[in-house]
This record gives sequence, C-alpha cells and structure tokens, in this order.
Amino acid sequence: MRDKLDIEYFRKRLEERRAVIMAGKETKKDENPVELDQGRLGRLSRMDAMQQQEMARAADRLNDLELQRIETALRRMDAGEYGYCVVCDEEIAEGRLRFDPSVPTCISCARKAETK
Ligand SMILES: [Zn+2]
Repeated sequence: MRDKLDIEYFRKRLEERRAVIMAGKETKKDENPVELDQGRLGRLSRMDAMQQQEMARAADRLNDLELQRIETALRRMDAGEYGYCVVCDEEIAEGRLRFDPSVPTCISCARKAETK
C-alpha cells in the first residue's frame, strides 16, 4: 500500500479546474454566434467561420468530457474510491494523478485502451 493520498489537495485541484471550465462556458454564451450569412461574407471567410465554429464545438465537447471526468472523480472521492483504477482496481500512480487529477484509469489500462 502506498501512503494515503492527499485527497483534499486533489479535491481542490478538481474543483478549481471545474470552476475554470464553467467560467469558460459562461463567457462563451455571451458571444455572438458565428455569422454564416453568405451575403455578407465571402465564400472563403464563410468557410473560415464554419471551421472556427467546428473547432469551438470540438473544444466544447472536450470541455464537457473533462467536466464529466471531474464529476466522476469527485463522486469517487466521496465514495472513498478515488485513486483506484476504474477498470482494474489497482492504485493509480500518484504522479499520474498530480498530472491530471481527473484521470480514471491506471497507466497500463490507459495504454491498453489506446491500442484498442
Ligand atoms: Zn487499471
């Protein structure tokens, strides 16, 4: 067994990260939607605008995924399961958690998932 994880440290990191993502979502809501009116934009800039919109959507999806991971990690903390791999139940290396506190799997399960 390793030394007990500093759960409060990781909880703080997760909550801070969640606050950053939520703040980003809030400011985005206030922005005007990308103008796709063909009459006002040339064909190329319209394609640029669509590409930007697509990139913004992709970033949104990534943020949502990360939020989900953060929520799951916080729930696992409450259940006393934090720091253990969701796949194999082995301990997740502390260095890995420090790099990304929302990471749900140990390094070997993550590697297996990548090569699938
Ligand atoms: Zn594992």
